[in-house]
Amino acid sequence: MSAEELCREVKKNLTDEIEFMHDLTVASGVEHGASVCQDQNKQVLMGTKCSGDECSVEYPPCPLDSKIVGSVHFHTDEPALMLSSADIENAQELGEILTCVGDEKDKVACYQVKDVSSQQIQQMQTAEKTYTACGEQWGARQPLQTWEAVSEQDLPPPVVDAIMEKCGPAYKAEINDVLKHFKKCVINL
Ligand SMILES: [Zn+2]
Repeated sequence: MSAEELCREVKKNLTDEIEFMHDLTVASGVEHGASVCQDQNKQVLMGTKCSGDECSVEYPPCPLDSKIVGSVHFHTDEPALMLSSADIENAQELGEILTCVGDEKDKVACYQVKDVSSQQIQQMQTAEKTYTACGEQWGARQPLQTWEAVSEQDLPPPVVDAIMEKCGPAYKAEINDVLKHFKKCVINL
């Protein structure tokens, strides 16, 4: 199945479940996600869900007699619609056709990650570190969390916006350089 076909299938069949994960993430402030699976009849279905660190370490397996073809997760920090270097490494390792990441508003961006070299991954990691350090310099403890369910130590949205203005552009430029080749579709929830 091509990434374009999978986009259509995900939109058609999984939007409700994705919306549910979105709502859970908004309510808890903790990242929620799931693998996207395909069964032997070529039906696309949602795999077991994960939350928090589980999602960044490893996606839960697909149900018996189905295989992983993609994943969806929600970022709790900005810029939410861009994949991290860890997301790309995971996607390549699992051979995902479509790797989707969503924000708190109502958008999910899906990418087909292919042939990202370890050198590019390293460049992304460097950009991520610079970005985090920049946020910390301006007082972001967990940089740039913009979700509703923020703890007292997190920053109010106007401060986050101000930090994004300072730290975001360089980071986005660097990461977009990698991601622009891979973007396949946007799902509006
Ligand atoms: Zn991620």
